[in-house]
Amino acid sequence: MCIRNVIIASLLLAVMVISGCEATKRTINQINAFPVSDDIKLGLQVSQEIASKPAEYPVLPEQSNQEVYRYVKGIRDKILSTGQIKHRSAFKWELKIIDDDKTLNAFVTPGGYIYIYTGLIKFLDSEDELAGVLGHEIAHADRRHATRQMTKNGAIGMLGQAVLGNKNAVGQVLGSLVGLKFSRASEEEADEYSVNYLCRTSYNAAGAAGFFVKLQGKGGAPPQFLSTHPSSGNRIVDIKTKAKNLGCRGSKRNVLEYSKIKAKL
Ligand SMILES: [Zn+2]
Repeated sequence: MCIRNVIIASLLLAVMVISGCEATKRTINQINAFPVSDDIKLGLQVSQEIASKPAEYPVLPEQSNQEVYRYVKGIRDKILSTGQIKHRSAFKWELKIIDDDKTLNAFVTPGGYIYIYTGLIKFLDSEDELAGVLGHEIAHADRRHATRQMTKNGAIGMLGQAVLGNKNAVGQVLGSLVGLKFSRASEEEADEYSVNYLCRTSYNAAGAAGFFVKLQGKGGAPPQFLSTHPSSGNRIVDIKTKAKNLGCRGSKRNVLEYSKIKAKL
């Protein structure tokens, strides 16, 4: 993650980590000082910043990878069509794959620009697992976690500058999105909504748990970006419990189709 203003970024990070520790399911910040239109503007600024840094964010060209894009966007569209996405038509929901096999990550900007790394696609084993991750990212954008959290953290001035296109501020917002510095409460809510979305598809609704199950199977410490998050074990239990409580019936995993797509990367 590239941050130009290290001091301000460190302060911002410290505030976010602290808020992450204090947050619980009940205390997620509902107040948002920004109108929805600012999420959209901010997303556009951040997506332009990403496009201007191909060395750091090598986007997989869509033209020469049409089948892979069609497949991943098809999963996204199933989630967007569940009737559960409040900002379905207002947000962009643009999806780009970042060609970086070493990075296990996915992130979303405010306003719904979704980025998923080839490293994560290759790490997962089935379509429902990827659907779970996409549902999680879509929830972060649709629930407006970034602007809500920055409202709570008092980063309104900085975010306001980013909305207006201040390069330094845009870079900082991007850095915190890539570094997955959402609060614990936001992460729990994104997991919960992922189940809620998938429950209205034919997929196994607990698909998002697959990522954490695989991480545990790998042994060792979780990647650094997960270290301030709720523990993998808790998240697996929470996701599966939610799917059970909602009475989700879907069971589709599409392991074979998924492996064919992975082979194209
Ligand atoms: Zn997240």
